[in-house]
Amino acid sequence: MSFLQAVGDFFLPQVCLLCGAEGLDAGRFPICETCLGEFLPVTRPACPRCGAPFKGAGVSHLCGECRQDPPSFDSAWSLFSYTGKARDLVHHLKFHGNLATLSVIAFLLHEEIEAPALARKVDILVPVPMHVNGLKRRGYNQALLVAECLAKLLNLPLDRTHLVKTKETPPQIGLTRAQRRRNIQGIFSVTNRDVFRGKAVLIVDDVYTTGATTRACAGVLKKAGAYRIDVLTFARTMPE
Ligand SMILES: [Zn+2]
Ligand SMILES: [Zn+2]
Repeated sequence: MSFLQAVGDFFLPQVCLLCGAEGLDAGRFPICETCLGEFLPVTRPACPRCGAPFKGAGVSHLCGECRQDPPSFDSAWSLFSYTGKARDLVHHLKFHGNLATLSVIAFLLHEEIEAPALARKVDILVPVPMHVNGLKRRGYNQALLVAECLAKLLNLPLDRTHLVKTKETPPQIGLTRAQRRRNIQGIFSVTNRDVFRGKAVLIVDDVYTTGATTRACAGVLKKAGAYRIDVLTFARTMPE
């Protein structure tokens, strides 16, 4: 698929939204080659479960966290380190409402998921939901927007209503990873189990941070009968 086909629905001649240079493919993509080249891909080897990259070479094995407390999802993968220009791009979407970013983010996610090495069966896409108060504040759920674009490119269904966030995320600052996970327990729920029973679900989000949110979402989806859960995010924060 060409850039043009992929972004056909969003087409407007565009300049790079990060630097103002001409966008890729004669302005059909709102990012330039230089900026795209500065995104830092998440490196391998990485934990096959949560995608955390390991320092140095070596065989892939579960990271300490996944060994100690395995997540309910089967795999999580992010394209880029949440730093520099990749972070700037997410900020344009998340905090400045720049929807032109969606064509870039969805296209790159689509390329990743279609890559032969990663191709896996997915029945349904599910964005990480926002609480109604958060939605009122921001006006949109960026994870939903990304998931909608990706679902379109993949020609797969998306569920936007049956995984819900019933409570706002309590303050997570100063908590350990384990405490964060406990802290977030019970804030997501599934309102209709039939939607996910026996399905391979792809959870979509913009950024993977501690994994507490995705773990919580995956937990309720597994309980609702999803047989496989993969997580795909555009960027992830790197462990210090
Ligand atoms: Zn640029
Ligand atoms: Zn892991």
